[in-house]
Amino acid sequence: MPHALRIGGFVPFTSIDYPQHLSAVVFCQGCPWRCGYCHNQHLLTSRTTGLLGWRNILKKLHQRQKFLDAVVFSGGEPTLQKSLHTAMEQVRAMGFKVGLHTAGCYPDRLKSLLPLVDWVGLDIKDLPENYSALTGAGGSGERAWESLDILLSTDIPLQVRTTLHPGMEKAQIAQLCTHLSRVGVTDHRLQACH
Ligand code: SF4
Repeated sequence: MPHALRIGGFVPFTSIDYPQHLSAVVFCQGCPWRCGYCHNQHLLTSRTTGLLGWRNILKKLHQRQKFLDAVVFSGGEPTLQKSLHTAMEQVRAMGFKVGLHTAGCYPDRLKSLLPLVDWVGLDIKDLPENYSALTGAGGSGERAWESLDILLSTDIPLQVRTTLHPGMEKAQIAQLCTHLSRVGVTDHRLQACH
């Protein structure tokens, strides 16, 4: 049920979270991973009730229909929540494009959401073999890179983002950039770790 979407934050207007679009951002609660450098620690724990009600958010979006192009679902990890699917359907029905920020934790769920998504920002943290030390989760690298493969097999505009985590060597960054380019990533951004 859409009202069960657990939301930890809402930005009603931004020009930087979906390229060339004015958007609102819904920060979904919960993430299965625990990256030491995560800047959204307050969103990581799944709660039974969100801090903000989805119905309330829909109302705010309705009031901004004329000014916004898109709604971006971010987190935490939005694909953790099954109700994301219905929430996306609802914002599409309101005429918004749908953006998704994901770390690719759930490749199968990502695949099922793709018909509802217009743009994806995918977090690729490192090469697969270096992931579990970063996320604390075995198999996380394989999942993230499987999600990348899935997205590269579609026409959905994709931006891959890498946070330069502490301890990441120059050669390691170069190796990652080369690898991403080889598999077909054309839009890769490096971002500083705060
Ligand atoms: S995957 Fe993203 S949201 Fe989850 S812990 Fe890592 S940085 Fe934070």
